[in-house]
Amino acid sequence: MIIFKNVRIFDGTGAPPFSGVVAVKENRIVAVSPDGAAIAADFAVDAHVIDGEGATLMPGMVDAHAHLTWPSSIERPVREMMMPPEELALTAARNARILLDHGITSAYSAGALSKRLEIYLAQQFQSGGLPGPRFIPSTIEKEPPAGDDNTFNPGQSEHEHQLSGPDEIRAFIKESAEFGAKSVKLLISGESQLRPGTSFELQYTEEELRVAHEQASESGIWLNGHAHAAEAVKLGVRNGFRVLYHCTHADEEALDMLEARKDEIFVAPAIGVIQAMLDFTPPPGMDLSEQKADGQMVLERHRELIPELRRRGVRVLPFGDYGFPFNPHGWQARDLDIFVKQLGFTPTDALVAATKLGGELMDMGDELGMIKPGYLADIVLVKGDVTQDVTLLQDKSNILAVMQDGKFHKEPRTQH
Ligand SMILES: [Zn+2]
Repeated sequence: MIIFKNVRIFDGTGAPPFSGVVAVKENRIVAVSPDGAAIAADFAVDAHVIDGEGATLMPGMVDAHAHLTWPSSIERPVREMMMPPEELALTAARNARILLDHGITSAYSAGALSKRLEIYLAQQFQSGGLPGPRFIPSTIEKEPPAGDDNTFNPGQSEHEHQLSGPDEIRAFIKESAEFGAKSVKLLISGESQLRPGTSFELQYTEEELRVAHEQASESGIWLNGHAHAAEAVKLGVRNGFRVLYHCTHADEEALDMLEARKDEIFVAPAIGVIQAMLDFTPPPGMDLSEQKADGQMVLERHRELIPELRRRGVRVLPFGDYGFPFNPHGWQARDLDIFVKQLGFTPTDALVAATKLGGELMDMGDELGMIKPGYLADIVLVKGDVTQDVTLLQDKSNILAVMQDGKFHKEPRTQH
């Protein structure tokens, strides 16, 4: 039994924080008591008591759009996306640990630079062999052949990211499920940040995505879509995609369609990488004017789009697209501040999206993402009141403790 006393509890529901006591037994939260009385009476014997000294105790956060194999982290920036497979494996494992260090205890993959690596990583995390988040693993994200070498994922050397026609799509999804991927990502639209103008281009046909949906349902695997163009969003909604990333140019019809499926679908704008691109000062000789212009347009669009999606009850999730040298792993919490300052969230709303809604994304909404009796003990202890200031989460030194599945990844220093 572990008891956290003298903590300010943010329980993930959106209710204001309250001071109290939380008890953890094995891997579950067993009691949450505003005054601590119930816990003192029932559980205090033999408990390991941690005095939180007024810090905030909150659910672990969920990265809704993780790329563990995108190499750069705050500990180790990497200029190229491409690296030898052995180095890639170790780098991805390190990135996973960095997520945990920052209070991200679950991650939903939005694609990898390696076919099977995330499956093996998930096994290591789950068995306790390596520190890492609860993890929904994916495989290489797929788009049709671009007709040149300017590929979406510069880390892919042999056009492994390419997929063409219903038969190949069906085979890819079937095979991915067979080797253990839980989700696959298709690039329904292009990406102007990588190939100017292509965010408006569709990369798959209705027929191809219909087949994808059919096979995904049969194989029991989730579809996730990179979708900027309005028609890309509609293709994704119509064809059973579970998560749609970006959704930048969603029009009225796309919004109506998302709203109609709001209980099944999630939107993750991955806005952090856009802000990072706008903030980045390129070295002499590197011209990012097109990317910056596109980024400015995307951000302005999201300032209107995201509040409207939320008004319609669509679940919008933070984080995503970390792993570039200008947007490294470990910076994820910046998303929360962008959600607050630019996208109309209150700090509490942003935290709910990162925790409770994240639990729903992990398909564990009845046991993950809240501080409630019966819920899994994925818990973060943070210095200060994060419901007043989400930027506190950006500084690792404020993260006093990280517990995952009832075990400390980072143990607090003050104990009695
Ligand atoms: Zn991504």
